[in-house]
Amino acid sequence: MGEMLEMFRPDQYVRSVCDIDLIALKRDGYKAMMLDLDNTLLPWASSQVPESSRNWIESAKELGMRLCIVSNTHNPRRLSAVAKELGVASVFKALKPRPQGFEQGLKILGCVPENTVVVGDQLLTDILGGNWACMYTILVKPMHPKEFIGTRLSRLVERWIWSRLSATGAHGTNCVANKSEKRDTK
Ligand SMILES: [Mg+2]
Repeated sequence: MGEMLEMFRPDQYVRSVCDIDLIALKRDGYKAMMLDLDNTLLPWASSQVPESSRNWIESAKELGMRLCIVSNTHNPRRLSAVAKELGVASVFKALKPRPQGFEQGLKILGCVPENTVVVGDQLLTDILGGNWACMYTILVKPMHPKEFIGTRLSRLVERWIWSRLSATGAHGTNCVANKSEKRDTK
């Protein structure tokens, strides 16, 4: 049970993407990021990218980070409009936590799991999938409480998992250490 729960533990937990230390990630050898869309970069069902997300994407690009939005959305038009506006690649219907979408993203980015970071607001999709694929995972607090009904249900499960995880220590903080640990335990 404990081991299974560990698959949901993010390497980092931040309040918003803007709190991600891009310079530290780059220093630790990360070259790319696969980003969730809804409630990570913008509020759910919105097509308006907040300026904060936009600026953060720009800083990541300036540091040479390769970026791809990997989303479970079934609305490719909305996703590609946002991706185009931000000037990043995208994968839709990713079926996270399953590996297909992430694999597609890695191919687009020309990267490998070892140097790629997954960023998202859901333990059951973004973090589980990223950990499974041996990538460095960063959980962000959902941007807005308004959510898809299915997501609201999975939040109940997440809350339970999160309380168990918190009881056995916080998320990791050291990029490199966590990455190698994750590979060792696979
Ligand atoms: Mg999300």
